[in-house]
Amino acid sequence: DTTTFAVRVAPLGTDGQVLVLAEDQTERQRVEAVRRDFVANVSHELKTPVGALSLLAETVMAAADDPEAVRRFAGRMQHEAARLTNLIQDLITLSRIQGGEPIPSPAPVLVDDVIREAIDRCNTKASAKGIQLVTAGAQGLQVWGDDDLLVTALRNLIDNAIAYSPEKTRVVVSSRSAHGHVEVSVADQGIGIPEEAQQRIFERFFRVDAARSRATGGTGLGLAIVKHVAVAHGGEVTVWSKEGSGSTFTLRLPAYAGEPASSRTDTPVE
Ligand code: ADP
Repeated sequence: DTTTFAVRVAPLGTDGQVLVLAEDQTERQRVEAVRRDFVANVSHELKTPVGALSLLAETVMAAADDPEAVRRFAGRMQHEAARLTNLIQDLITLSRIQGGEPIPSPAPVLVDDVIREAIDRCNTKASAKGIQLVTAGAQGLQVWGDDDLLVTALRNLIDNAIAYSPEKTRVVVSSRSAHGHVEVSVADQGIGIPEEAQQRIFERFFRVDAARSRATGGTGLGLAIVKHVAVAHGGEVTVWSKEGSGSTFTLRLPAYAGEPASSRTDTPVE
């Protein structure tokens, strides 16, 4: 590996003394390369559904006198459009949080509310596969942050647990208090993640199996969003997984011990 330095020389007063500043450019070059890769990946990911849409539109036109075919291709167009919408939504979310800026208007958040809301939004997908979503653990835990971002993060974890699990399995969402932190885990009985991939899955657009991820509607950005939400809250996300038996993702966030948050609804978590 080579290291590049940018050197700047500035005069110090009038007696000929100079100040030499050497700045390591390696990190800057790495960041620049990551940015270029990201832009290339985004372009590719956007082109795929747009290409499919334009092909499907041509097919629909050619099949104009066959209403059944038109209906079928229009359905596929809808599917590709939904994929594009998901990708754009994920890109917007990621661009809001990956800059490392503090969360705009943080407040106390009741973890039970976050879990309930995330589960509510995943219920349809779970039922379609006969997957049971179960909650367990402590109640009344609080963190400090943005409830919408936390729901998005947890929802991505539950969505993945459903997408990468066989039918009629269980997904357990549990919360617990641990050394001044709150841990929320999502455990599945799914396909698991090969050990060598476990550290890379949080990178934008990294997928263990690209075909499978696309088939399940994945954008490849879900876990990158989870990671950035965790970091923005002063926490982290970790994974334990064994191929063939399942995965457990854990969001670990600093606990908030101040005034209690007002619960958004009065419905108890099931
Ligand atoms: P995707 O949209 O592809 O699901 P993510 O960023 O959410 O993107 O996840 C990245 C990759 O990590 C997935 O493509 C998949 O290979 C793997 N993965 C994520 N969650 C799970 C899980 N619960 N079980 C097995 N593999 C998973």
